[in-house]
Amino acid sequence: MKETRNFFLVGGAGAGKTTFCEQVLASAGVIGRAGSVAEGNTVMDFSPQEIEQQSSINLSLAQFDWKGTKVNIIDTPGNPDFVGEQMMATKAAESAVIFASASAGYQASLELSIGKLEVIPEICKAIVINKMDQKDADFKAVLQEIREHSNLSPAPICIPIGQGSDFRGVVHLIKQKAFIDGKEQPVPTEMEDDVQEALEMLNEAVAQTSEQMLDIYLEKGELDQEQLLQGLKSGIREGLITPVFACSAIEDKAVGVTLDCLVRELPSPLEDNKIKVLRDGKPEIVEAKDDAPALAYIYKTLSEESVGTVCFVRVMRGKLQTGETFYVPETGKKVKIGSLHKTVGKKRKDVHELTAGQLGVLVKLKDCQSLNTLTKDDSLQVMPPVLPSPYVWRTIVAESHDDENKLGEVLDKVLHEDKTLHLDYNEKTRQSVLSGISLSQLELIKKKLSDFYNVKCQLQEPKVPYMETISKNVESHYRHKKQSGGRGQFAEVYFRISPVKRGEGFKFKSSIVGGVIPKGFIPAIEKGLKETIAKGIVAGYPVSDIMVEVYDGSYHTVDSSEAAFKTAASMALKEGFVAAQPVILEPIHTVQINVPAEYMGDVISDLSSRRGMVSGMSQKGKNQVIEAQLPLSELFSYFPTLKSLTQGRGRFIQKFSHYQILQPDLANKLIAQKSEN
Ligand code: GDP
Repeated sequence: MKETRNFFLVGGAGAGKTTFCEQVLASAGVIGRAGSVAEGNTVMDFSPQEIEQQSSINLSLAQFDWKGTKVNIIDTPGNPDFVGEQMMATKAAESAVIFASASAGYQASLELSIGKLEVIPEICKAIVINKMDQKDADFKAVLQEIREHSNLSPAPICIPIGQGSDFRGVVHLIKQKAFIDGKEQPVPTEMEDDVQEALEMLNEAVAQTSEQMLDIYLEKGELDQEQLLQGLKSGIREGLITPVFACSAIEDKAVGVTLDCLVRELPSPLEDNKIKVLRDGKPEIVEAKDDAPALAYIYKTLSEESVGTVCFVRVMRGKLQTGETFYVPETGKKVKIGSLHKTVGKKRKDVHELTAGQLGVLVKLKDCQSLNTLTKDDSLQVMPPVLPSPYVWRTIVAESHDDENKLGEVLDKVLHEDKTLHLDYNEKTRQSVLSGISLSQLELIKKKLSDFYNVKCQLQEPKVPYMETISKNVESHYRHKKQSGGRGQFAEVYFRISPVKRGEGFKFKSSIVGGVIPKGFIPAIEKGLKETIAKGIVAGYPVSDIMVEVYDGSYHTVDSSEAAFKTAASMALKEGFVAAQPVILEPIHTVQINVPAEYMGDVISDLSSRRGMVSGMSQKGKNQVIEAQLPLSELFSYFPTLKSLTQGRGRFIQKFSHYQILQPDLANKLIAQKSEN
């Protein structure tokens, strides 16, 4: 455990994470030459969809030896649509290495990644400012932006020598050495001022990590090398310092020294050995060590053509060995470990066991999904990561009968892999609704179903579960009488129909006395009513929040039947309903929208154009949170608008609040649509 480092790479889309991995793999001798994202020959982005898009969609793992340390790097997609992959990786690694582009600055995807990590204090963080070779690269400006916009405390450890086409390497501030072309050299004299300025920043940051350091700094004006190294290490672990590095992954400049520093400064699984678990459902911390009952976590699964399901696993404590059986508390099943591997992208090497703190992959493990625990101690479960709740919703409709038959099963597989996707059946609209982080994520699922499983389907905006109700009390009466040859039909009912409190649904009451309607027919009346309210009366939506009381009626000893009373009840309800000022109810959701302050005005005026009602505003960190009530019909496609209004930086959470009367012009449109159909 001591000689292991587990990192996951996050940050700006296109900041160079995959390219960085290629360079370190080439330097470590794992691959002959670094692949190129543009040429589609990288080891880390190997799926056909990733090659086509030229960017990561799934996390991938590279395991290699770096100067005697076992390094496990998880490359996660920078695209915010796949932020779930980043959250899953938090369960596998001690540290996050945040990639920023020296020329793109504080992009929305970088902000999102940092925002997600800031709330997970147990993850140590470092920042790599990459693309230092680009024309408009500006290390200091990006560092300043991160300092201003995030709650991290970035402190430079390596600063660039030159920028753009002049970028040659870096100066390591603590070692007081330059690294140019992979070689250690004295600090160039022209760098002295920059080094002095950055060193002061580093001294100040380390001084803030403890009172003892602060005293030394105030007394002596600076900290020595040993104090800096010691303060840095503890500061990183306590989240008080985020070390910053500079490199150019594409030109392989300062990549090796950056990885050296990350390995040195970031903690091993032994140093960061507190595992959050649930014991019999209650939160607890257990220690990561080799000699403990085995506990491992499947932080991600993936379907691979010709291989089947691949499970990415992290051993939390104890050992994972082939041939052993483990309990999976999330499913209640037992699974046997078949083949176990170390991996670099798609290339795998068989191993017999994985020890505490190690990562690997399991192939052909049946009955396992992403976020499953493998445990020997039945009472333990690894605490799952907090995943973002859905922002978009679409119904998924099979194109043919054949596709329909296969859709359920293959969707299940996809949902087992990506836990940011959800499939819910809406009883009211009788639709299966797929929800996720973005429309492009759902479109990719559709493409995967088609390309990988040969199941074709369409994504459509879901139906809104409107309901019908009434506004006033009425009485209604229906006499059902038919005489056509043989036995006739007869039933007569008198109803009092009244609105009830919102959310109370349908209520039925019989106050029949003296047997004017025999007891045996009362259930038929209720059944007739229920069938009618399920289909809807004026606009085809289910009826709710009404009470029907049957208080009188009559019957015929020969011609009355259950069917006749069902018909009479249905007709009496329909006639009464139309006379009782029917209205349409629409679902309203509460939304909390988190946006940078400069976009508040635009977001609020857009909300009012969507019939939204702002109920409050508050500050959260450097952002504003707008609380509002928004009709569900406006929510299904709200996210793309919010993204475009806020340059991709706005986010929201939502939940159902209540049903509310729909304004008459919109209700009339729904009623007209029903008569057209
Ligand atoms: P990721 O999305 O963070 O994994 O970024 P990639 O590694 O896929 O890189 C995105 C694009 O930037 C690709 O075209 C890379 O060739 C390019 N790139 C990566 N690193 C650098 C760099 O250091 N300098 C320059 N100029 N381009 C880079």
